[in-house]
Amino acid sequence: VETFSPTFNRITALLSRLPGIGQKTAARLAFFILKSEPKYAHMLADELKQLHQKIRYCSICGMLTEQDPCPVCTSSRRDTHTLCVVENPTDALKIEQTGEYRGLYHILMGSLSPLNRITPDKLRIKELVQRIRDNHVEEVIFATNPTVEGDTTALYITSLLEKEDIRITRLGKGLPTGGDLELADTITLLSAIKNRENLRL
Ligand SMILES: [Zn+2]
Repeated sequence: VETFSPTFNRITALLSRLPGIGQKTAARLAFFILKSEPKYAHMLADELKQLHQKIRYCSICGMLTEQDPCPVCTSSRRDTHTLCVVENPTDALKIEQTGEYRGLYHILMGSLSPLNRITPDKLRIKELVQRIRDNHVEEVIFATNPTVEGDTTALYITSLLEKEDIRITRLGKGLPTGGDLELADTITLLSAIKNRENLRL
């Protein structure tokens, strides 16, 4: 096979490693960048270079942040007695977008999945239990994905909190079962937060 441009091929190969991007889409994206003003490619490259340099995980909640602790953890306007437990930073972003939730977050960095060897020690579970004990938390809201793994994770952590005198809730029904929290629209998510159900009385 003749190669017109090794550079173009390399970029296409890099782009095709992104989730949901196949070879064809990768080539289309590379071509789009090539057709655009050179400034666009420069901006993209510059921002990508800074991604790992500037963004890190909050040492308290695990959220993506440029300052540690993150602005949510350090805000005086948040209700520090409520913790919303999510699987990934993108889930916390999604809940934050509803503009309704005033508590803090705890990001687990995944969900329990024995098949994929994701055991409790691979997630930020120990940190969560410690946080609950140290900070007078009154309610823990599980907003893990509405999947078998998400449910299992919520129930497992609930069992660890047996001795804690706190309210434990799970986002209400209405979320697409088996799906990703990220896929839920804002209104559905909002009602799921409002109609959260007790996991334990
Ligand atoms: Zn934080």
